[in-house]
Amino acid sequence: MLSIKNLHASIEDKQILRGLDLEVKAGEVHAIMGPNGSGKSTLSYVLAGKDDYEVTEGSATLDGQDLFAMEPDERAAAGLFLAFQYPLEIPGVATMTFLKTALNAQRRARGEAELPTPQFMKLVREKADSLSISTEMLKRGLNVGFSGGEKKRNEVLQMALLEPKLCVLDETDSGLDIDALRIVSQGVNALRAQNRSFVVITHYQRLLDHIVPDVVHVMAKGRIVRTGGAELAHELEARGYADYLEEAA
Ligand code: ADP
Ligand code: MG
Ligand code: MG
Repeated sequence: MLSIKNLHASIEDKQILRGLDLEVKAGEVHAIMGPNGSGKSTLSYVLAGKDDYEVTEGSATLDGQDLFAMEPDERAAAGLFLAFQYPLEIPGVATMTFLKTALNAQRRARGEAELPTPQFMKLVREKADSLSISTEMLKRGLNVGFSGGEKKRNEVLQMALLEPKLCVLDETDSGLDIDALRIVSQGVNALRAQNRSFVVITHYQRLLDHIVPDVVHVMAKGRIVRTGGAELAHELEARGYADYLEEAA
């Protein structure tokens, strides 16, 4: 589903990713853990095609399609979804309107007809209910006045609507209390499917008690330095990253 080979990327001429390799098969959930500043968010931005990030070497394909040959909206239409670490607030754009615009843009890009409003409303209500998102929240400006937990639940709602092939979650657990963590994790787990893969970036093992990964990677200084099973997350929680940072240096 996702194949990254020897990825090098920089921002403002500062090299951040230094030869990163990652293979994620269809249906798998991979966790990426690593210290602050190791380039985890940079990886997700580079995959999504955020401005200012320059790929200097290497490749990334999504289901065989060259990601770096596509514009950000084309990548989304191809099935890539990035859940942000810090979801943006957009005053003046109702959450419901944003969701409808996003879904219909994607349907158009895929050559599908737009969803009629009544059907769309029904679909959103259903998915919002399962994430404990109220109708009142959907009427508010996108993320405006949302709590940390509400913003992250709203990210998962977008994901549930857009039905991506590859979901990248960048520290979706940061700032969540236990209840919000459970709701977000249940939302993610409900989306696990044979034809959908996840890259879950997190600092903390506790998220991985809820979203149990197939594979865990340690990232340090812009590369994957260790790969293991779910047990690796427990080992990291106990030992920390110091050894890996030394090795990477
Ligand atoms: P992580 O998500 O693993 O904490 P980041 O990808 O956010 O790491 O950051 C990796 C490195 O890139 C850090 O040293 C950070 O300071 C640097 N960096 C991130 N964004 C920028 C930017 N816009 N300009 C300059 N340096 C940046
Ligand atoms: Mg960080
Ligand atoms: Mg980060």
